[in-house]
Amino acid sequence: MLSIALDGPVGAGKTTIARELAKRLGFLYVDTGALYRSIGKYVLDQGGDPSRPADTVPALGKITLQLRYNDARQQRVYLNGEDVSDQIRTPAVSMAASQVGSISEVREFLLSLQRDIARQNNVVMDGRDIGTTILPDASLKIFLTASAEARAARRHRELSEKGDPSTFEQVLEDLKKRDYDDSHRAASPLAQAPDAVLVDTTSLSLEESIDELETLARNRLFQRDGR
Ligand code: C5P
Repeated sequence: MLSIALDGPVGAGKTTIARELAKRLGFLYVDTGALYRSIGKYVLDQGGDPSRPADTVPALGKITLQLRYNDARQQRVYLNGEDVSDQIRTPAVSMAASQVGSISEVREFLLSLQRDIARQNNVVMDGRDIGTTILPDASLKIFLTASAEARAARRHRELSEKGDPSTFEQVLEDLKKRDYDDSHRAASPLAQAPDAVLVDTTSLSLEESIDELETLARNRLFQRDGR
């Protein structure tokens, strides 16, 4: 199976780019953030504090997570049988996801789920530690980044379109906090794998970013395979 590991900080455009890249290549798009978000949501719903292992680790025993794909190959995430894909896109759940993601038991809990998908499908997998930990033998690793301001502006636009009242300053502050926490945690911190290709999208349009990744992918994956 072929796999593209796409890692990078909040708002680098990973989700949109990975989804479109997967479509162009005929691969399955796997958004691993949805798994961390679902666990964060579960702990919040129970009235727990997602940053406390004492609240989060016991919850893992009560959680079943599944990724399912509809006819359009869109990912939906099921938490204990309920489709929570839309409910996990709030700023509170974003922060909770980052908090549960710093707990090593959570990362272990999600490891085999992610690896199994990549074993059975050609994937574009988007996350923070895909190239470093989940798929160390990925066919291609990309580390996607952009300046904090460019990333906050994109995220702010997305949230506003959904009617979220957060200001640009709040979004920038949240993003910087999540970046810091994601790259300083002990368990699988956000980091560029030594063999990952760095792509900075600050001055690239979405279309240009996707084209650049598609070229990288076709050169790397298909030429080597003779396809
Ligand atoms: O990518 P997304 O914004 O949905 O991820 C939410 C949070 O989940 C991130 O800030 C990060 O802390 C955590 N995460 C992670 N490892 C991944 C994917 C997401 O730690 N592979």
